[in-house]
Amino acid sequence: MTLLTERPPTAPTSAEVELTGLAKRYGGTVAVDDLSLTVPAGEFVALLGPSGCGKSTTLRILAGLEQPDRGRVLLSGTDITAVSAHRRDIHTVFQSYALFPHLNVADNVAFPLRQRGVSRADIRGRVADALAMVQLPAAGDQPVTSLSGGQQQRVALARAIVDRPSVLLLDEPLSALDRSLRQAMQVELRLLQQDLGVTTVLVTHDQEEALSLADRIVIMNNGRAEQVGTAEDVYDRPASLFVARFVGEQNEIPTEREAIALIRPEHVRVGLDVSEPAAVNSVDGIVRGVSIAGISSVVLVHCRDLTLQARVPRDGRPLPHVGDQVRCSWDPAHVRTFPEGAS
Ligand code: ADP
Repeated sequence: MTLLTERPPTAPTSAEVELTGLAKRYGGTVAVDDLSLTVPAGEFVALLGPSGCGKSTTLRILAGLEQPDRGRVLLSGTDITAVSAHRRDIHTVFQSYALFPHLNVADNVAFPLRQRGVSRADIRGRVADALAMVQLPAAGDQPVTSLSGGQQQRVALARAIVDRPSVLLLDEPLSALDRSLRQAMQVELRLLQQDLGVTTVLVTHDQEEALSLADRIVIMNNGRAEQVGTAEDVYDRPASLFVARFVGEQNEIPTEREAIALIRPEHVRVGLDVSEPAAVNSVDGIVRGVSIAGISSVVLVHCRDLTLQARVPRDGRPLPHVGDQVRCSWDPAHVRTFPEGAS
């Protein structure tokens, strides 16, 4: 009898990663500033933030390619801060693939196993398994340079998982791929990560990628973690003005108090009836633009001293036209307020 399970149990090698009080400077530049983070075994975490906020430096410290000035890196409770990169049970997939052009696909994937002195027979089986996992079961004998960019990225992934590391690090692994391939690879990457149960840290500046792939997201700013949470946490309950502005889109509504009030375009309603006087939480304006954005439309409305963006579902109801007078309104529960001057 065959027992079918949804997915294999978490790999026994999967490890908890802990960063405590990490700091790293390059001359006068603070790259990482007192960063602490725990990633439980098997979790997929994304480091997300604007260019220069310290994501790659954090990843390189985790990989052992960079030494922190302060702080520690622990793997399942063991301090590995001083352990060199090749002795860490951690593999990295880089955006550049970093494959060996003179080797064929199988030899590229086999490389880490050869370095560890694994027997030939074992290598063959494990390379075949890894290539099957990345959907390239028949590519072993091909020159790696004959593959497309997407396929080469799969080879890099196969090489990273072939000796079942405890931790997988992904440094913008999909950003060189075009949009449709990137989205397909995101789905595959997530399934693969879950099947392997490998603790994974992804660096990306692409919020869609972070929100769709990761169990938890670390929003970084100036070398610090501004917020650590699920996609819902950072999108619906941003902990700071920086997070609120960085994740998704926002309208900024002036207020009388020294505060900045934000409301997302999907929470702004656009009404065509302006006959009654405008109530609180609503403002009248003139439509300046209407554009189709997939399943929704974006309506730009000029209201006295501000321009509001509304994202309205394309559900068959009539859309306003440019030049129409409309009333924008919102539920106050959707307004997030932050003190002015906060970052
Ligand atoms: P991110 O990956 O978020 O774009 P990085 O970790 O690459 O950010 O960089 C953080 C900051 O540290 C940036 O200001 C960057 O210019 C600086 N930095 C990173 N690596 C070096 C380096 N090797 N030498 C000097 N400055 C560096």
